[in-house]
Parts: sequence; structure tokens; C-alpha cells
Amino acid sequence: MQRLKDWLLAQSSGVNHRIVYGLVGSLLLCLWGFVGFWSWWERSSTLSANAQLLKQLNTAVHEQTRNLFKQAETSLAVANLWMAEHPDQDPGKAPGFIRLVENLRQASDKLIDIRMVTRDGTLRYIPDRGQANRTHVADRDYFQAQFNEKTRGLYVAQPVISRVTGKLGIPISIPVTKAGGDIAVLFAAIELDRLAGTFEAERIQPRGTITILRTDGLFMFRSPMDDKIIGSSVAQSAMWQQHMGTTPGGFYQAEVSPVDGRSRAVAYTRVQDYPLVVAVTASLDDLLRAWRMHTLILVSVALLISIVCVLLGITLLRSMRGEAAVRSTLEHLMLTDPLTGVGNRRMLELRLDDEILRAQRYRRALTAVYFDLDHFKRVNDTYGHHGGDAALFAMGHLLKSALRDLDVVARYGGEEFMVLCINTGIDGAALVAERLRHLVESHPIEVADASGTSQTIKISISIGAAGLGGGIDNKAALVQAADKALYRAKQEGRNRVVVAESIPASSEAI
Ligand code: GH3
Ligand code: MG
Ligand code: MG
Repeated sequence: MQRLKDWLLAQSSGVNHRIVYGLVGSLLLCLWGFVGFWSWWERSSTLSANAQLLKQLNTAVHEQTRNLFKQAETSLAVANLWMAEHPDQDPGKAPGFIRLVENLRQASDKLIDIRMVTRDGTLRYIPDRGQANRTHVADRDYFQAQFNEKTRGLYVAQPVISRVTGKLGIPISIPVTKAGGDIAVLFAAIELDRLAGTFEAERIQPRGTITILRTDGLFMFRSPMDDKIIGSSVAQSAMWQQHMGTTPGGFYQAEVSPVDGRSRAVAYTRVQDYPLVVAVTASLDDLLRAWRMHTLILVSVALLISIVCVLLGITLLRSMRGEAAVRSTLEHLMLTDPLTGVGNRRMLELRLDDEILRAQRYRRALTAVYFDLDHFKRVNDTYGHHGGDAALFAMGHLLKSALRDLDVVARYGGEEFMVLCINTGIDGAALVAERLRHLVESHPIEVADASGTSQTIKISISIGAAGLGGGIDNKAALVQAADKALYRAKQEGRNRVVVAESIPASSEAI
């Protein structure tokens, strides 16, 4: 029965539900594949475009920083030269020197301020503000560096808060050569507030930074300004040890910045001629904001499309299931005898074609057990047509309960039935037939007579059995042989089984 259903389904034009799963699945796979690829591609191209920008910005910042320190160095050299050329004048009071220092300050956009320190560590301003205003700076490293053989010369000191102005600055000191008086050290202070002003416009807003570090990892400057960071050291951080502290320049992305914990893209270069490193950074959050927005929109659209696809798929599957149910009901109606509930003649013909082919291909046995109710006209005559129908209905029940699922049972017409015994030779079929005959004989059937009273009647069947082989090799021959045997059973007195003569009784397989 199942094979037959499959066969009928194969003939139907309905779309297989697997195709729907496949289509929806492929569509979703393509859609999300595209979303994933696009998102990855836009992120990568955004980051690489910004890497270029950061590197260019870093080059500009490097030039600016180098020029600033060069300017500070030159200013110190010029001041030192003046002092060497005027050993007899007190630089704190000499109008020529005061003018020179002021001019140098103006030339640096007021970024660089030159001051002097006496041999005993007293800070002297230019012009001199008198004894009362003098400040002691002997503890500062820019002063001490000039009395150490290793650090003597141009020395970029750690940033300090000026005891004069109260502002943060980077002192760059040199030793005074051939000075008149007691001046031992000259230094240029770069005021960081002012420097932040110049760099502020250049950094990538809002969370990008421009940073100057000393080559030993000391924070010298950062825009935007953060007083807490200046003077601290990042020498122990992984970012310093892997990148800035070990290579002359480069680009990297830090998942967690050692300063503010943000993910950052960083371009950095060691400053030529000075013990400094400049770094330009951008927050990945800032760089990827547009990408994140685009991805969100794309994912939302893809999600919407996916939901629509899934809903369409479900609707299609439901309608297909409905169709399949209708189809299977129709098949059932088409192939079932309405009175007895067993298969009808159409079903039997289809199965006969099918099973004969199969038996011949796999060299298996197949037998037809054909039977007819004895003296059925009498049942009709005695109990009316309705009574005869009730007897046929009861017969269908009996057959279904008695036979294997594998066997095919059908009403061939009128009060004649046929059972196809699959994979069963004639001897086996004769046993089945005998069992059926006995079953019918020993199961009286209840029918109502013309007055409506329930009566129990005994019926019997005559059976003819025939199998494939011995010249029987097609449907017509098989049915004809079984019919002949049935005829003989009737002739020989009914309520008996007759096996077709042409079949050898011992043949189990053909
Ligand atoms: P035999 O033993 O020789 O077979 O005798 P019989 O009386 O059964 O003779 P036959 O097979 O020739 O008669 C079949 C009868 O079955 C004829 C018909 O009225 C009756 N019949 C056929 N189909 C139906 C049906 O669907 N319902 C009813 N109630 N009777 C039917
Ligand atoms: Mg008949
Ligand atoms: Mg009959």
C-alpha cells in the first residue's frame, strides 16, 4: 500500500516540502552570508582607510614636534652664544639679552620660555625680578642632569609644574659655556597648555589623542590635556614593550589602551634627533561608528527578510500539507471499496502490475487467491439487498483482521475477492486459502431480515489459487488461472480450495 502511495505521489505535480526547506535555507544562508561578508569587508576597509589617515597625521605631528624641539634647542644655543659673547654683562639685566629672549619667545608663538639657573640652583628670570622672587630648583632633573657626565648636554627633562607660573611644562636644558657670573644652566620650558592648543585642532575628534612620550616611556604630553597622565610612565605596558619602545615607528590596534582602557588604532614614530616618540591615536568606537550603524540597519533588514521568508515557507508548507492530506484522502477514496473497506478492483490491477514486475525482477514467488461467496443470491433473496450488503461488509472486516499487512486484499467485483500473497509460493498460498475458508465457515454473520430482526447466517466461500510460473507470466494469465481453479471449486461442491493445475505444488520460488 505504501509503495502504491509513493507511486501516486510521484505522479502528482505538488512541490516536495524538501524543496521548500532547501529554498528557504539557501536563501537565508545567502542572505546572512552576504551580511557577514559585507560587514567584515566594510569594517576592514574603514580601518585600513583610517590607518592611512592616522599615519599621515602622525607624520605631520612628528614634523611639528621635531620643529618645536629644534626651535627650543636653537633658542638655547642662541642665548648661550650671547652669554659667551658678553661675559662681562649680567644676562638677567642686559637689555640686549632681555630683548633677544623676548624675540625668541615671540618667534615660538609664546610656546618656549627661556630661563636660567645659577650654580647653586637658584632660578633667575629674564628680566631679573630681584632677589625676593628667586626660586630654588636644585632638585629638578633638568638642573641636575647638567652636573652628570652621562646626561650633560641637551637634556629633555620630565614635565614639571613650574614654581613660577604654576603651569605644566617640558623643560629642555643645556649647560652654560663660558658664562660670566654664576649662571650654570639654561633651559627652555615648553608650556603644555599652549601646546595642547596647537594640537587640539589636529586630533581625530572626539576621542582621538596626540601624545608625546620620552623614549624611556615617560608621558610628556597629551592632547586632550590630562594633568594626571603627564609624568607617568607606560614603560611596563605591553603596548610600549611590543611597539613604541622597541620599533622606530608603526601602526597597531590596541584592544585596551593602557591609559584609558579604550580600543584604539595607533600610529607612532620616534622623533628624529630627540629622545621622543609621537603617537596619534583614534578610538575604534569613533572610527567604526558609521560601520556599526550600517551593520545595524543591514542586520535589521536581513532579519526582516528572514522573518518574511520563514513565514512564507511555513505558509507554503502548510498549504502543501493540506494538499497532501486532500491528495491522500482522494487516493484512499480512489483505491478503496466503500462497502467492504478493502481495496477495490482499480487498486488490485495496479498492485498486480507492480507485484508481477517485482516478483519477476527479483525472482520471487507471487500467488493470487481468488474466492467467491457461495450461494450469495440466496442471501440477497432471503435478507434483501441490504442484508447482502451487511454480509459483504462483515466479510471485509473478517478479511482485514485475518490477513498480514503485507498481503494485498481487494474486492474484485460483486461478491468476489482476491488476495495477493507476496513472496509466497503456491503451497503457502494454499494454506492461506484454507485458513480463510475455515475462518469464513466458522464465523457466522449477523444480518437483519426484512422485518428488521437480527439473524445469524452461515456463509462459505469457494477458492481458486494460482501462482506465477509454469507458463503463467502476466496478469491476465494469473487471474485466468485463479478463476479457472475457483470455477473448479464451485464445480466440485463449493466451500473448498482448488489450486491451479498448471503449477507444480512444490514450487516455492520461481
Ligand atoms: P455461486 O455459489 O455459484 O457463486 O452462487 P451465487 O448465488 O453466489 O451466484 P453468483 O456468484 O453468480 O451471484 C452473485 C450474486 O451476488 C448476484 C448479485 O445479486 C449479488 N451481488 C453482487 N454484488 C452485490 C452487492 O454489492 N451487494 C449485494 N447485496 N449483492 C450483490
Ligand atoms: Mg460470483
Ligand atoms: Mg457466488
